[in-house]
Amino acid sequence: MKVTFPHMGNTCIVVKALFEYLDIDFITPPVCSKRTLELGTKYAPELACLPLKINIGNFIESIEKGADTIVMAGGCGPCRFGYYAEVQREILKDLGYNVDLFVLELPNGDIQEFLRRVRKLIGRQSLWKALIAIKKATKVSIELDQLDKLSFQVRPREKVKGKTDWIMRKFQHQVSKVKGPENIIRLINETRKELEAIETDPSIAPLKIGIVGEIYTVIEPFTNFKIEQLLGSMGIEVDRSLNVSHWIVEHMIKQALHLRKHRPYEEAAQPYLSTMIGGHAQDTIGNSVLYARQGYDGVIQLYPFTCMPEIVAESILPAVSNDLDIPILTLIIDELTGEAGYKTRIEAFVDMLARRKERKLRNNEYVLSGN
Ligand code: SF4
Repeated sequence: MKVTFPHMGNTCIVVKALFEYLDIDFITPPVCSKRTLELGTKYAPELACLPLKINIGNFIESIEKGADTIVMAGGCGPCRFGYYAEVQREILKDLGYNVDLFVLELPNGDIQEFLRRVRKLIGRQSLWKALIAIKKATKVSIELDQLDKLSFQVRPREKVKGKTDWIMRKFQHQVSKVKGPENIIRLINETRKELEAIETDPSIAPLKIGIVGEIYTVIEPFTNFKIEQLLGSMGIEVDRSLNVSHWIVEHMIKQALHLRKHRPYEEAAQPYLSTMIGGHAQDTIGNSVLYARQGYDGVIQLYPFTCMPEIVAESILPAVSNDLDIPILTLIIDELTGEAGYKTRIEAFVDMLARRKERKLRNNEYVLSGN
């Protein structure tokens, strides 16, 4: 059995840590590329969500490398993620690929069925070892997100432009070569030290932008044209509202164990969207409110064309923007999105934020001198 899985940002490093600890033979899909998207677009229904198309491309590229089993997350609720796996299974079958597709759904339904699927993956190894592997992989996900967060803070302040990108690129290259959760965490720690050692300019007070939206487009750099890097290189400090560790801890582990969840965005979203409508629409609204309260200069919402929950969120965001006086830019992404036009819209938004901040500072100065 050679297992593969879909790409979603750093998730592949977390899955690598998990599978290596459990000695599961696996194939990491090649990094998402134009070819991946072209394959998915060719074989998926035209109006399918973009992540479904890219996942199809991931699967085909992994099958070409020898994978015969696919593992992916499942979901339920009023959005299309719940039937992703079935559609993908049918597409691969029609293409003549003979692969098993396991859906590791949240175990709040049939726990026996869930355990049966896990057992098929881990073979004779104990469930206790599987639990330790999950704990270690979760730690990897938390450390990875903290590393990203640090890079978002250092990048706009670095004195030698491009240093952060260089270190993060080196990390991505090296992490594919080290094996097991302990070694991955060691590499993360080394990389953190390298980032901390970058010389920064303390006088820089960068604009701050929060990224919200549909999880795949927010997390997967191929779909969002590396937006965090792009903004960072323009001197902007970024915060990503969704990340892999939050998803694992809050939506998978705590949900499965019926533990109290830490989801401050739910309370923040109450006046605008008081119920969960699928996807991450409530997160989008709540996190935009939180960014406004924290004094961020702007928010960017990202989502794939036809994503139903985010369309609802987009229609509510102007109210958040008006009430809390925070500019919000929405970027909708599909396979036809051109990088140049996308960057131009971001540059125009950043330009507007910079002028707005300057005006505010000037007005404050006048008020102070008047005093
Ligand atoms: S959240 Fe949006 S993109 Fe994701 S499955 Fe649902 S509708 Fe599709």
